[in-house]
Amino acid sequence: MTATTEPDATLNGATGQNADVERVLTDLAARLDTDAETNVGFPATLALDYGRLLPFFNRFINNLGDPFAESAYPRHTKHLEREVLGWFAALLRAPAGWWGVTTAGGTEGIEYGLVHARTRYPDALVIHSAAAHYSAAKVSRHLNLPAIAVRANRRGELDFADLRDVIRAHRHRPLIIVATIGTTMTEAVDQVSDIRAALADHAVTRAWVHADAALSGLPLAVLPPGSRPSFDLADGADSISISAHKFLGLPFPAGVYLTSHGPGGSSTVDYIATVDSTLAGSRNGHAPLLIWYAINTVGLDGLRARAHESWRVAAYTVQRLQGIGWNAWRHPHAMTVVLDTPPADIATRWRLASSNGQSHIITVPGVTTAQIDKLVTQLAGRMPQRHAGNTGEWPVLPTPRNPAYHDAEGNHRH
Ligand SMILES: *Cc1c(COP(=O)(O)O)cnc(C)c1O
Repeated sequence: MTATTEPDATLNGATGQNADVERVLTDLAARLDTDAETNVGFPATLALDYGRLLPFFNRFINNLGDPFAESAYPRHTKHLEREVLGWFAALLRAPAGWWGVTTAGGTEGIEYGLVHARTRYPDALVIHSAAAHYSAAKVSRHLNLPAIAVRANRRGELDFADLRDVIRAHRHRPLIIVATIGTTMTEAVDQVSDIRAALADHAVTRAWVHADAALSGLPLAVLPPGSRPSFDLADGADSISISAHKFLGLPFPAGVYLTSHGPGGSSTVDYIATVDSTLAGSRNGHAPLLIWYAINTVGLDGLRARAHESWRVAAYTVQRLQGIGWNAWRHPHAMTVVLDTPPADIATRWRLASSNGQSHIITVPGVTTAQIDKLVTQLAGRMPQRHAGNTGEWPVLPTPRNPAYHDAEGNHRH
């Protein structure tokens, strides 16, 4: 079950009685830093230093409205946001007429995709993998779009036979297919070209494919298109979303959304003199500043080197774990290593998200082979957690709901 805290209404701060601000902040910093050495279960890298931008956090920034429309509000970073979007558009091979926006994170990116898809096809059915992030089902629910989960196989990959059955059964209506480019548990990739082929085989022309590439979109995008899975706008995705706080390591949630089809459903709101194409009105202007800074200081070559280092550490992790007889595997081009869930003390210490006897380590930039060596040393001679469903592989997910997904302490992962 989800651990929750009861809302507690107090006026401490407002009455000036909470004089312990310094202690609270010191404690907070200590808590945020304690697990830096052992946090290898979550996909957020800490390996980028944004300290140069600290002065901008004493300045108000608001990228109100459309990134491509000059706003009546002068304190913005829209010129940098447009550079960021153009950079991603080039990497993801956006066609002329593309549109994009920086988002509050992966979920808002999926919401943009489904809002745009629904604008084009109001009576569409959403289809996503059972291994998709739970936000695909959640956003569909919020938008009142019916949704069907297609089976995922034992490695978290979309079951294309099942997808074809679902497409055949619903070919009379428009379809919105959410392809997951790097599933949360195993980093499986639902190849967009295969989805397009399944649609074409059933003569479905009213279809929108959204690529949810929150984790893997950026590390895969820095590979040449010929040697990466099929997922970008030239591969047949109509829209794509990528998180900026995972591989790129922004210190707060943010993301990028792109679509081939323009800003969809816009109308002009006169008093702010801007095009109303965005979900939010006021938007974070610091996020595009940080993304712009990262891609301009690390650069394409630097990001590519980071991706290759992450994959190298992931391969090393599999090899070390298998070397002590611990069941472990990974998809090619995945920095996610799936392993039998370690004993509770180790799973908790290393922040390993676990489900059905399987856990994962995510070797984002900054995770080192020295950390992996330490973890492997602690695992040697121990036994995996026993679990009724532990088959040594990611279990089949037969139900139409996303699997409940827990961290090592039993909390739902957000
Ligand atoms: C992290 C993630 C999301 C959700 O992104 P948030 O930024 O947490 O909203 C969605 N899909 C996938 C595949 C993810 O890895």
